[in-house]
Amino acid sequence: MKIKEIELKDFRNYPYLKLELSDGINILYGSNAQGKSNILEAIYMCAAAKSYRGAKDKELLRFTDGLNQCDDAHIKLIVKKKYTSNRIDVHIKKSARKGIAVDKFPVKNLGELIGILNVVVFSPENLDIIRMGPAVRRDFIDSELISVSKIYYNNLVNFNKILDSRNKYLKNRDVHGNGDITLLDILDEQFVFYAKKIIKDRFVYIEKLSQIVSEIHYNITGGKESLRMEYNPNTRADELADKISENRQRDLKYGLTSFGPHRDDITFYINDMDVKVFGSQGQKRTAAISTKLAEISMIKEETGDDPVLLLDDVLSELDENRQKLLFSNIKNIQTVITCTGYDELNISDMSEGTIYEVNNGKVVKRSTL
Ligand code: ATP
Ligand code: MG
Repeated sequence: MKIKEIELKDFRNYPYLKLELSDGINILYGSNAQGKSNILEAIYMCAAAKSYRGAKDKELLRFTDGLNQCDDAHIKLIVKKKYTSNRIDVHIKKSARKGIAVDKFPVKNLGELIGILNVVVFSPENLDIIRMGPAVRRDFIDSELISVSKIYYNNLVNFNKILDSRNKYLKNRDVHGNGDITLLDILDEQFVFYAKKIIKDRFVYIEKLSQIVSEIHYNITGGKESLRMEYNPNTRADELADKISENRQRDLKYGLTSFGPHRDDITFYINDMDVKVFGSQGQKRTAAISTKLAEISMIKEETGDDPVLLLDDVLSELDENRQKLLFSNIKNIQTVITCTGYDELNISDMSEGTIYEVNNGKVVKRSTL
């Protein structure tokens, strides 16, 4: 899929912007704090209904001066696919929840947005996935699975709701309380039902992803390193029901759910060495790049279409060789890159593209490739 154009109104530092993107590579260059990443953030909003930088919706409303913010912000995006095209509208409001529409039909839950626009983001934060805590890796796997499976999304929403209800119940009822224990029986049963589905899907997905990661990483490192991912479920699906019932008293005592997929993790191994513990900074970065590249292949495999790539400020951190390998892996995929200067980019092989200068909320086309 390819983004044809994006239009912003009162989003971040843009009073108004209409930007047509080329099918190949799109380079947004400019000094710091001009609004380059803001454009990627707006694109990501249309794909996942949230910011990839963890910003709250209200922060996206444009400040007109130091104190006052606009009441509304709008993003409109047109995405072309093989046989169709879709229009996505995001309306962010100061005093209400944001509204999203696809082809002018309001989207009632995020599930309806899945697959309309698939993007893969490379940002300094998500190339840190190996160094960070388990929650970051769980989020990574969840957002990948969500982008290819509505069923996974629904199971995850239900699981999180039940986990939340169970934890509230546990907090409000002490170990010796005489309240209604049948409610906890019901919550436990539902918890195990959805948790098992999540564990199974994560297991299958990580197995597949690991195989692709392995191949890519072998090429990137010129055959020197063999990388694999291993899923570390906190509790195996077939043991979960017993674990939950055995630990009921403990859960009541601490007021939380001690076992389940909300505590899962993933380990990365290079030549059988745990990268998080023993890997160098460069190895962690390269392993993360291989994983992101594998994510692109997985999306193509599962949906039949390429995602759009967003590279936020990551190229300057890669040496010439790694940049070349990255570009050779993303030929024919529409890519939007932010950088402060493009002289050092190894884009000579890219056949189609446009270079834009971003300056204080204005975007000017400078040249085409
Ligand atoms: P860098 O090269 O440092 O990453 P960038 O061009 O990617 O810079 P962005 O993060 O896209 O920068 O934009 C930052 C600019 O947007 C800053 O000048 C900031 O003050 C402005 N900005 C952020 N949020 C808002 C907002 N809600 N209203 C108005 N301006 C905003
Ligand atoms: Mg930026």
